[in-house]
Amino acid sequence: MYKPHIVILGAGYSGLTTATKLQKILHQNEANITLVNKHDYHYQTTWLHETAAGSLKPERTMIPIRDIINQEKINFVIDEVTMIDEKNKKVKLLNQEISYDILVIGLGFEAEAITNPDLNEHVFPIGNLNNARVLREHLEYNFAKYANEVEKNAARINIVIAGGGFTGIEYAGELADRIPELGGEYDVDRTQVRIIMVECESTILPGCEQEFVNYAMNSLESRGVEFITDARIVESKHDRVMYEKEGKQIEIPAKTIVWTAGVRGNSLLEHSSIPTVNGKVEVSRDLRVPGYENVYVLGDCALITNAETGRPCPANAETAIASAVVAARNIKAQINEEALQHFQSEKKAIIASLGSSDGVAVSLNGKKHFGWKATFMKKLSLNRYLLQLGGIYLLMKKGRFNIFHT
Ligand SMILES: Cc1cc2nc3c(=O)[nH]c(=O)nc-3n(C[C@H](O)[C@H](O)[C@H](O)COP(=O)(O)OP(=O)(O)OC[C@H]3O[C@@H](n4cnc5c(N)ncnc54)[C@H](O)[C@@H]3O)c2cc1C
Repeated sequence: MYKPHIVILGAGYSGLTTATKLQKILHQNEANITLVNKHDYHYQTTWLHETAAGSLKPERTMIPIRDIINQEKINFVIDEVTMIDEKNKKVKLLNQEISYDILVIGLGFEAEAITNPDLNEHVFPIGNLNNARVLREHLEYNFAKYANEVEKNAARINIVIAGGGFTGIEYAGELADRIPELGGEYDVDRTQVRIIMVECESTILPGCEQEFVNYAMNSLESRGVEFITDARIVESKHDRVMYEKEGKQIEIPAKTIVWTAGVRGNSLLEHSSIPTVNGKVEVSRDLRVPGYENVYVLGDCALITNAETGRPCPANAETAIASAVVAARNIKAQINEEALQHFQSEKKAIIASLGSSDGVAVSLNGKKHFGWKATFMKKLSLNRYLLQLGGIYLLMKKGRFNIFHT
């Protein structure tokens, strides 16, 4: 009997969901499954802004992968993918090479700035747990240095956030809550610290309802966040950032430039021969790559078109998880030579936190929520994910039950 080797790259929302679904629906005799991930843990990207601000300990977002997968069914390899060779159906890792029959790519996103040499050296992306930790350490180091300086260098405590989308405002909200605490720890007066958000559109949260935009701006402004809109960051150095507005270039002394302005699919895809659009792979409705019937691309690496609207599905955890569920079913159908199903983009709640006890959200019935109710919804969605992923044990271990605070 044909027993294909399924290789899943990445154990983020999409990769780990695919693995856990496949271990449930495939019998051991039906396939060999290998899951490859850089680390032995899964981390919750949706909480990285808290880790990066220093308000959530990194270990709270980490879930040991071996606690989740059934190792009798899944061979877990901790290694870094360095090349996808789809012509020869092989994947190169730092330490070995693996052949596959069916490949699932769930390697996540990279910050746009990484590809721009004028920006990449001095910006801090919030893309994975390690760079969230680096940002947290960098902030603390600069606060400590500032407190010790005789001639105070404002660049140490000016924080520029590039991009006023969801990730940018979530980080700004978290930072606005964290700064008074950090100031207290390092003897730095809150009023001297600047948090400046630079957005290239005329408003933050472009495309969102005005009521949301107004609420988010008022909430953040009341906690000291400044906004510069219609402005584009053009250069960053170790102690300053340059932005362009109305044809003029303006400098802000800042050693911390946090990049939340745009992400693209993992650059490994662009280095493969799979065609990409803005760093992502345009997949067909069954989530396979056109022309590569054994390759599924999921989550932030994929450009999935919503069949109803003709627009791309949002790159978020909800899409990553939902696409993984369909991919797992399709892999089983493909092995059994049955018809594959199409990915339907369902209406999902929209939730953005603005710190530990404030946020904005729209629930599935279209009702808008503000304040603690929105943060409660975010915690609820995390808890539901944990329950689905690892049952009650994982929920009790990593769930967030405090409604009002972290
Ligand atoms: C700060 C922040 C807040 C967010 N908040 C929300 C939110 O509230 N709601 C929401 O729905 N979405 C949110 N998102 C977006 C969401 O996190 C992503 O859309 C989601 O993580 C995409 O899932 P994924 O499976 O594609 O990738 P990821 O979850 O990023 O997983 C990728 C995995 O691949 C691994 N990997 C990467 N490269 C390699 C390699 N070369 N070799 C081996 N392994 C590798 C990584 O270690 C990781 O485990 C947020 C994102 C950020 C950054």
